Amino acid sequence: MPPRTGRCLCEAVRYELGEEPGPVVNCHCQFCRRAHGAAFATVAMVPTASFRLTHGADALHERVTEGVGCRAFCIRCGTRIYNRPESAGGITMLVVASLDDPSGLAPVMHVNVESKAPWYEIRDELPRFPGLPPGSEAALDRGRDV
Ligand SMILES: [Zn+2]
Ligand SMILES: [Zn+2]
Repeated sequence: MPPRTGRCLCEAVRYELGEEPGPVVNCHCQFCRRAHGAAFATVAMVPTASFRLTHGADALHERVTEGVGCRAFCIRCGTRIYNRPESAGGITMLVVASLDDPSGLAPVMHVNVESKAPWYEIRDELPRFPGLPPGSEAALDRGRDV
């Protein structure tokens, strides 16, 4: 299977993945909602080491929140590319919508539902977690605050 690739809207930023993404989640935290301008953000866990920026290092901006992590986006078109929670060393939460071909990927759960948008109603049967699922804290703790 060729590596998955992705890009921003203006195509200044392009990347490829060295391996298949991990679980996909819909994050309903207030930070994702505001940053993405959406009811929730759909992100996949990928090892940071497998994310390779192929174009646009000058266009990709990492907005760092001290002690929390960063959110990366294209400064030319605003497309969100990934989040990196500081406490989840080595993990990149990749924005699934930035992939060129997301086939085979689908959300497996809703997380941070306790801070879900009041105007959005979840209408599927996927598991829902008020915060993060039990056991994921080690990997994702505080990712909700990025
Ligand atoms: Zn762009
Ligand atoms: Zn979030």
